[in-house]
Order: sequence, then C-alpha cells, then structure tokens
Amino acid sequence: MKKEIEIEVSARHIHLSKDDYNFLFGAETPFKEIKELSQRKEFATDKIVTIVGPKGEIPARFLSPFRQETQTEFSLTDCYQIGVIAPYETEIIDGCADIILKTSNGEIHRCAMMIAKRHLHASPTDAAELKIKENQKVEIAVETPRGKIVFDDVNVKIDKNFQLRVHLDTDEGNAAGITDKCFGSLILDENDINN
Ligand SMILES: [Zn+2]
Repeated sequence: MKKEIEIEVSARHIHLSKDDYNFLFGAETPFKEIKELSQRKEFATDKIVTIVGPKGEIPARFLSPFRQETQTEFSLTDCYQIGVIAPYETEIIDGCADIILKTSNGEIHRCAMMIAKRHLHASPTDAAELKIKENQKVEIAVETPRGKIVFDDVNVKIDKNFQLRVHLDTDEGNAAGITDKCFGSLILDENDINN
C-alpha cells in the first residue's frame, strides 16, 4: 500500500521556555512572525539565539510558541560545527548535550541540544485512514533527481492538531536531494497493517 505525504525539511532551530526568552531578549520584548509552520500553530520568529559549543558557535532561530523547557534541534552537521555530540530524541531528556545560549543580553547554560528523530505527524483521522498508530515506525520512500532513498524508522506522532507531514532534518533532506516542495510515499506491508 502506498500513500503520498508531503515532506518538510526542518532547519536547525530553538524552542524556548518563557523564562529563558525573557532572559535572552528582555522580559515582555515582543517577537514577530516571519514564517508560519504546519504544526501546532508554530511559527518562525525574527529572534535569533547564538548556540555556543566547544568548537564554535552558530545561530538558531526561535520558534514560537514557548515550551515548558528550552529545546535546541540541530542536524548532525550543525553539531559537528560547534563540537557537540547530541542524542537522537523526540523531546528533551537528561542526556541532551550541554550548550550555551547567547544573545547581546547575556548567556545561559542549558542541557538542551538534541537531533530530532525523523517523524510523521498525523491527525487521528489520517492515522485511521493510513492504518498507523502512535509511535509506530514506518518507511517513507522519496524520489528526487538525485535518486530514490527510503527512510526507515520514521516515528509516527498523532494529535488532533497535526497536519499530515513527514519531518526530516537538513542532513536527511540533503541526502534525499530535496530542494523544493516534495512528497514521499508511505510504505506499509501487510504485517504493519495487521499488527
Ligand atoms: Zn515535526
């Protein structure tokens, strides 16, 4: 069974707690929306945090809304640039890498760096139609002028506010040759459907 799903490639970014935002940018300093995102009423803002590691620093854009905990999502290539080894995760855990967040207002240390595991967002209706379940690992095949590649272990996330999308990071997007709007095929075999 095959189903076409839009693929979005996520550049490195940071989710901030309200307290960390207030420290880095000043309490009640407003931020502007510069790009609407597909999930959870998220949007990219005009605010940039410099992420500092042992070997360098690199800017990351703050995505609204605020989260309970500050969370920085980099690709492996981004991590190499600043000399950080970060785990592959879906949310902040104790083992996330230590980094420094810096703006002109000052800097703070946070155990907040992860590489986001590739995942598929689906609403309960999409999930029922596709016969997929929360936390199921599925395969997504992508074909571009670069050739065909299949991403396995794509983690399914279901929420009533989700739009049907696959999220890859920039390393994965580049490996697949994705440069523009792109669709992948969900591949489910009979075992997936019956389990
Ligand atoms: Zn996502």
